[in-house]
Amino acid sequence: MENVVIIGSGCAGWTAALYTARANLKPLLLTGQQPGGLLTTTSIVENYPGFPEGIDGTDLMMRMQKQAERFGAQTRYGVTVTKVDFGKAPLKLWLDDEVIEAKAVIIATGASHRHLGLKNEELLERKGVTYCATCDGALPMFRSKPLVVVGGGDSACEEATYLTHFASKVYLVHRRDQLRASKIMADRALSNPKIEPVWDSVVTDVYDIAKDTVTGVQLKNLKTGAITELPCAGVFVAIGHVPSTDLFRGKVEMADDGYIVCHKGTYTNVPGVFAAGDCVDRVYRQAVTAAGTGCAAAIDAERYLATQHA
Ligand code: NAP
Repeated sequence: MENVVIIGSGCAGWTAALYTARANLKPLLLTGQQPGGLLTTTSIVENYPGFPEGIDGTDLMMRMQKQAERFGAQTRYGVTVTKVDFGKAPLKLWLDDEVIEAKAVIIATGASHRHLGLKNEELLERKGVTYCATCDGALPMFRSKPLVVVGGGDSACEEATYLTHFASKVYLVHRRDQLRASKIMADRALSNPKIEPVWDSVVTDVYDIAKDTVTGVQLKNLKTGAITELPCAGVFVAIGHVPSTDLFRGKVEMADDGYIVCHKGTYTNVPGVFAAGDCVDRVYRQAVTAAGTGCAAAIDAERYLATQHA
C-alpha cells in the first residue's frame, strides 16, 4: 500500500513529490509517457524564478526530479495508468494488469496544447512552430520578424500582444470575423498597431520543410475560399488546451471541458484524491503556478493522511 501516488511528472507532479517526500511519505510518482511533461517540449524557460539566464525545460524538470528523489520520492518511468477505482478505500490504480493501492492520489496529468492537425505543423515544431509565446517569443529566431498567431481567444490575444515586444509584425489569424476573447483582451490586441487581424481564415499549411524552418503559412479564407501565402518566421498556435483527464471521467468531478474541479484548495470531490497543475488550471497555466499547486496538493494530502491516522 502506497501512502501517496502522484500521476504525472510535470512541474506540479515533481513539486508534489518533493513536498510529500520531505514529509516522509515516500511518494510514488508515475511519469506517464512524456516524463517532464509539457515543459520538455519547449526550449529555454526564461520565466521560472531563480534562473536569471533561463534554463532548458528538460533540464529544469530533471533538476526537480533529482530534488524530489533526494528526499525519497520513488519514480516509475514510462508507465501509464490505464484505469482507476476511487469508489472506496484503498484507492486503486491499474498499470495494465498491475494494481497499485494507495491511501492518497495526486492527479497532476497536465494538459496538452490543442494542435491544428497539420503534418508540417508537427514536422516544424520547435523550428518555428510553437504553442507558447511566453516560453519562446523572445528567441532570436523570432526577433524583428513577422509572426503568425492562430486563434481568437484570450490566449491568442495575450500571445499576440506579448509578441509585439519582439516581432516586426504579428498577424492574428482567426477562423471567424469576431474574437472569442474577453473585450479588454480583444481591444488591447486590436488597438495595437503591430497586430493585424486576418479574419475568417485558417492555416492550411506551414512552410518550409525543405529549409527545416518556418518561412510562412498557407491560409484559406473560409468565406471566399481564397488561398493565400503569408511569409512569417514563426507560427504560434493558441487554439486552446486539452486537459489530460480522460482517465478520470466519471471518477472525479470535472467540468464539461474536462478540467478537474477542486474544492477547498486541491481537494477533489473524492476523499483522498487531490489535483494540481494544468489539469485543473485553465487560466494561468505557467510552470511556476503548476509547481505552486503541486506544493499545495502535497500539503493537502499530508494533512488528509494525518486525519486518517488520528
Ligand atoms: P479558447 O477560449 O477556447 O479559445 C480558443 C480559440 O481558438 C477560439 O477563438 C477558437 O475559435 C479557436 N480555435 C479552436 N480550435 C481551432 C481550430 N482547430 N482551428 C482554428 N481555430 C481554432 O482558449 P484560450 O484562448 O486558450 O482560453 C482558455 C481559457 O483561459 C478561457 O477561459 C480564457 O478566458 C482563459 N484565459 C484567460 C487569460 C487571461 O485572462 N489573462 C489568458 C488566456 C486564457 P472560435 O472562437 O471560432 O471557437
